[in-house]
Amino acid sequence: SALKETLGFQTEVKQLLQLMIHSLYSNKEIFLRELISNASDAADKLRFEGLAKPELFENEPELKITIGYDAEARTLTIADNGIGMSRDEVIANIGTIAKSGTKAFFEQLSGDAKKDANLIGQFGVGFYSAFIVADKVTLTTRRAGDAVATRWESHGAGEYTLEQVEKAGRGTEIVLHLKEGEDELLSDWKLKGIVRKYSDHISIPIEMKKGNSYGENGEVIVSDEMEAVNSASALWTRGKSEISEEQYKEFYKHVAHDFTDPLAWSHARVEGRQEYTELLYIPSRAPFDLFDRERKQGVKLYVRRVFIMEDTEKLMPHYLRFVRGVIDSNDLPLNVSREILQESKDIDAIRNGCVKKVLGLLEDLSANQPEKYAEFWQEFGQVLKEGVGEDMANKERIAKLLRFFSTTSEGVEPTVTLGDYIGRMKEGQDKIYYITADTLAAAKNSPHLEVFKKKGVEVLLLADRVDEWVVGSLFEFDGKALQSVAKGALDLGALEDEADKEAQKQVEESAKPVVEKVQKALADRVKEVRATARLTESPACLVAGEHDMSAHLERMLKAAGQ
Ligand code: ADP
Ligand code: MG
Repeated sequence: SALKETLGFQTEVKQLLQLMIHSLYSNKEIFLRELISNASDAADKLRFEGLAKPELFENEPELKITIGYDAEARTLTIADNGIGMSRDEVIANIGTIAKSGTKAFFEQLSGDAKKDANLIGQFGVGFYSAFIVADKVTLTTRRAGDAVATRWESHGAGEYTLEQVEKAGRGTEIVLHLKEGEDELLSDWKLKGIVRKYSDHISIPIEMKKGNSYGENGEVIVSDEMEAVNSASALWTRGKSEISEEQYKEFYKHVAHDFTDPLAWSHARVEGRQEYTELLYIPSRAPFDLFDRERKQGVKLYVRRVFIMEDTEKLMPHYLRFVRGVIDSNDLPLNVSREILQESKDIDAIRNGCVKKVLGLLEDLSANQPEKYAEFWQEFGQVLKEGVGEDMANKERIAKLLRFFSTTSEGVEPTVTLGDYIGRMKEGQDKIYYITADTLAAAKNSPHLEVFKKKGVEVLLLADRVDEWVVGSLFEFDGKALQSVAKGALDLGALEDEADKEAQKQVEESAKPVVEKVQKALADRVKEVRATARLTESPACLVAGEHDMSAHLERMLKAAGQ
């Protein structure tokens, strides 16, 4: 039927559109990258669904993207013969933002174009970036295998129309009706330049008309022939020396749906029991849904160049959930499913190999590019810390990568490694001392530190939520036990000299009546009251039993309602 319906955008879509148009205008070329990226994803999806249902290819197996323009109509067309969308999918994908954390994201927006541009980049601009250059967008799409197609049209203001139409070929065609002043896009030279710059890594051909050439007598030959503008081979299959920095970065933006450059990457072909290629990236910024259990993004699994799935659980451990990129296996069966993944020993081997690559990449950054590592730590340190408890096999390697504040810290960044700490240990010291607290200030001002200050012994100040988990799993490092300064009778070992022991004895003697009184007053509320010579400024402090929960953990659990 020719019935046209008008539907409203979700409120967030309206907001996003407004903001994007204003804040990303200076970077407007990226709309083409985003639309090509979607077309490429659609080709991946068709290839995968086509494994089980070859009829979806409709006798048109060559996947490609085509770009063309009509100078007179002032339109630009981006078309693909990928999976396409059903009517319901159009509504779900193009009229709403289904991403988890959307609400929280919008609450962060400030109205300051510069700041917001950054945030929007993190959020991912995607399809809507078409409205940076277009004042009307017409999307016509037919899902592979379906009989009818859907046309979606919008001016990007607040609503869109939907209509059922005919479309011969499967896939999606997007027509951008350019805004006034965007005519420079109506040029082969300009468009090919943008495609080569941002989308060379796309693995299927991006075709455009060859354009005019000159004959023997200087006559203009107008050709309708098409040619691929990009290299059209999967980036990760190329040799390292054939890939430029820029290409690595653009590929990252495509796989990660990110707007900002990655911080670092590892690219390797691995041979042995399992043959695979990995191209894994560390983003430069944490996604807004890093701590969201519903998050959907992870590492993409390919089998012999065919996209199989994006996985958030099996290919990377939880503590490396920020890693993005692709793993392309030569050995796994093409029909590998989520269920098979769960069980597969082969996947375990690939995952172990990839974890080692990522840890190696981080070790390299920390040793050779400390500033970059500090950036990494700022964004993902909290998450990496989880690894100490999660990944027994790599515990020691992860522990070396940790950064802490300590009583010797001066800057505002945690920079102390456990190795540094051990290097600065006092003669006779055989433990790594730490204190946990809710805040860094509370840790720093704890009376428990007084004796350590007096003796010039460094103490790690742990104020992150995850730190309790770290010290609960990391009992020692490099043969040195980790010891809370707020627990037990605090055995200072060889750090204690005769004078200390003498002082302690005296205090115990002289304070006996006071201790008895206090013990009586507090009755059952404390286990024990002790006199100590260790406090130099404070009159008293609380100590947890050697085997009890720390006071800090107890507070955390209470706050969590446990
Ligand atoms: P993202 O690519 O990060 O998911 P986009 O805004 O770019 O976000 O796209 C939203 C969704 O719209 C995609 O996830 C996809 O489901 C759908 N989509 C967009 N373009 C196409 C296309 N050319 N073919 C099929 N589906 C598409
Ligand atoms: Mg996209």
